Amino acid sequence: MIMIKNGLVVTQDKRRRVIEGNVLIDGDAIDEVGGATDKSDIVIDAKNGIVMPGLINMHTHVGMTELRGMVDCSSLERFLEQTTAFDSKNTEGKIRRSARLAAEEMISTGTTSFLDLYYSEDVIADEMSRKGMRSFLSWAVLDKEYTTQKGEPIRNAESFVKRYRNKKMTTPSFGLQGVYVCSKETIEQTNRLAKQYETVVHMHLSETRKEVEGHKKKYSQRPIEWMGRNRFLSRRLVAAHCVWANPKEIGLLARSGTTVVNNSISNARLNSGSANVRDMIKKRINVTLGTDSTASNDSLDMFQTMKFSALMNGLPAQHVLDAATVNAARALGSEIGSIERGKKADIIILNDDAAMRPTTRDNAVSNIVFAAQGGNVDTTIINGRVIKR
Ligand SMILES: [Zn+2]
Repeated sequence: MIMIKNGLVVTQDKRRRVIEGNVLIDGDAIDEVGGATDKSDIVIDAKNGIVMPGLINMHTHVGMTELRGMVDCSSLERFLEQTTAFDSKNTEGKIRRSARLAAEEMISTGTTSFLDLYYSEDVIADEMSRKGMRSFLSWAVLDKEYTTQKGEPIRNAESFVKRYRNKKMTTPSFGLQGVYVCSKETIEQTNRLAKQYETVVHMHLSETRKEVEGHKKKYSQRPIEWMGRNRFLSRRLVAAHCVWANPKEIGLLARSGTTVVNNSISNARLNSGSANVRDMIKKRINVTLGTDSTASNDSLDMFQTMKFSALMNGLPAQHVLDAATVNAARALGSEIGSIERGKKADIIILNDDAAMRPTTRDNAVSNIVFAAQGGNVDTTIINGRVIKR
């Protein structure tokens, strides 16, 4: 058993309580919150720092980490040309190195799990479990004529899901690159398989104005509208970006229960625009946060992402912290995202730093979102294992 004491605990439980008290971890799960009993083998002194749930990055491509600072980010089109050229010469060794780099950065900046979208997710799964990360990995499906993958993307994805679906720290799923490289048949087949294997479908959707215009030319409908007509929007879908969702499409996303991932830094970096997150939250869409890859961010630090998303959208701190924790957990159907009895022990501790120290319980959440940085993360615990101390 591990006991964390002397911390201000930002629980993210249903009442969003911030409490002074201990957190007891038994094996991979949280056993007690706030109690004073000392029956533990290991005691971690939080030294007046903040104890909070590990952050969940809902959209990234960790296999691209080595491309940080290497790609022209003036537009998504230029960006994709270059990353596709890179992918065509990619090797397992490079993906492994990128994944390792990403794991180190995530662990040191307080991200305890993430939803990835890429190919060779088996290689990534392997590196992540070696590092002790919890990973949710979507194998990207796209039409055969556009892919750099060996073999058929949809078959690769299915065999990955089959092989990894019973692993403890890895949850495999199906991904879709986007409507610009996925035909209706490809999306249909992917959805069918996701239903069969009970996984999420993780895709890029309505990221740029160009994507919307291209789709309108081809199908006379906007991407999200078209997804809705074809019954591709659902509770299963995790849609990254949705920058160009109009009010009608925001309604469709809301009614279908689709989860949206806001990637405000990447969208700004690639000049894609800014998603209407305030309206999405008003319509009760399950909004989450992602960094996207380091090639378009250039950081996997979710504290930066929380602050930028809050500033770009004028969001209250509590909404932003919810997006990075409990909303993400809901989309993934996983027992993570809050410090409550029975939840998996994915917990981080922030140090007691004058630059972000809460002066009362009331400014803890605001200080996490607006003042803290990844560098404040002092301890990272994933699935009850102390990964960083
Ligand atoms: Zn992306």
